[in-house]
Amino acid sequence: MAAVQSLRDYVREISEIQSAASLAAWDQRTHMPPQGAEARAKIAGRLERLAFERLVSDRMGELLRAAEAEAESEVDRALVREWKRDYTRHRAIPPDFYQKLVETTSRAETAWEKAKAASDFPVFRPHLEEVVSLVREMAELIGYTTSPYDALVEEFEPGMTVARLRPILGDLRTDLVAFLKQLGRGKAPRGLPSGAFPLDTQRQFCREALGWIGYDFEGGRLDDSVHPFTIGVGPGDVRVTNRYAEDDPFSGLFGALHEGGHALYGQGADPALAWTGLAGGSSFGIHESQSRFWENQIGRSLPFWRHAHPHLARHFPHLSRTAPEDIWRHVNRVQPSLIRVEADEVTYNLHICLRFELEVDLLEGRLSVAELPDRWNQAMGEYLGVTPPDDRRGVLQDVHWSGGMFGYFPSYTLGNLYAAQITETAEKEISGFWERVERGELATIREWLREAVHRHGRMYRPEELCTRVTGSGLSAEPFLRYVRAKYGEVYGL
Ligand code: ZN
Repeated sequence: MAAVQSLRDYVREISEIQSAASLAAWDQRTHMPPQGAEARAKIAGRLERLAFERLVSDRMGELLRAAEAEAESEVDRALVREWKRDYTRHRAIPPDFYQKLVETTSRAETAWEKAKAASDFPVFRPHLEEVVSLVREMAELIGYTTSPYDALVEEFEPGMTVARLRPILGDLRTDLVAFLKQLGRGKAPRGLPSGAFPLDTQRQFCREALGWIGYDFEGGRLDDSVHPFTIGVGPGDVRVTNRYAEDDPFSGLFGALHEGGHALYGQGADPALAWTGLAGGSSFGIHESQSRFWENQIGRSLPFWRHAHPHLARHFPHLSRTAPEDIWRHVNRVQPSLIRVEADEVTYNLHICLRFELEVDLLEGRLSVAELPDRWNQAMGEYLGVTPPDDRRGVLQDVHWSGGMFGYFPSYTLGNLYAAQITETAEKEISGFWERVERGELATIREWLREAVHRHGRMYRPEELCTRVTGSGLSAEPFLRYVRAKYGEVYGL
């Protein structure tokens, strides 16, 4: 076992460097004074380089080869598999190429900011053309069997391919577009009494809600940030951040439940996986399923609001004359809109389907960057029935493409699909599932998730994990059943 132990020692070193980098990143986004920014950027870059040099080193190659021959236990085999994957993918990219990609995407991001502010796509166009061409080259360097997109989506969703995604997202899109038309004939929920919601009270309410779902404050903390995020600093330290809107207590609450879901995944990892690089999530999609589970499947359910309503009313007395049903309807309004990050559960995935189709066509050479805005606007009209009045609220809204992050968007929808699929299984396996939610007894559910998903960290690939938990591979059907049932009821269809 000497070779496996040597590999473990080496990846522990990398993991410890990454832990220091995470702590520096958390501080940068929560408490760092402005004048610390320049020095912090240097430290972050240094730590990243130290970790990266080790990951792609000849030594890592030798350790992996030796350990591969020796690894017997399930954990050791996963250890070799996951590090070999990262090593191979990163070794395939020559340092000069990587440097060029970093510089190009950095310039592209600046151009994107300008282009978005002025709603001027031609400013961004040459930069995006350069990024797309580099990303295609990167896919060639990494290698793939069928589509260059496969080489990219693999980074976020190991094992996922265009061939697998296309039918699932295609059917999902067709069914959601049809369902959205039906909802248009339903009865829209009434609004709630408006008012101001003091930020400190909201923070208190969110801490309570994190407590309900079993977030361990002895192993983490909650702070404010501009964009909510969850970060695992190391074993026993998984932190969440959140933001609050003065006129709307729900955006803060759902943000907390979302990040809390991510954090439970990190807090629930088997301690034996500490410092192996296996304590993180199986994939971006599976990670997102854990946040969506608590945010949407639980947090936007009627039983949850029967439990949460008295607490909401205690914190915000002017909502005390509402009924749990009123809140439930309010947080489940559907409104086709131009902006992805503001979209509801029903329309959100249509924003993703559109991006996925455009990305694949760009990468496979069927679509030019020049044609993007027209294709975008046309698809928005077809899928959502809204047409962007300008590119700022259309093709220029997301930062991802300027950074070369092609293949990332599907993870969001995969998270929604996995969450619905896991919920269907949990409903069957946990007796009185919704009665427990209504009584606020969420610990049993959290324990079930820990056993089924969290404990395993990155031990299993996403489809394998999904099959182990639910008995079948990824499917859009549970999600479609879920939205039809819930939104059919909310809209009185
Ligand atoms: Zn998330």
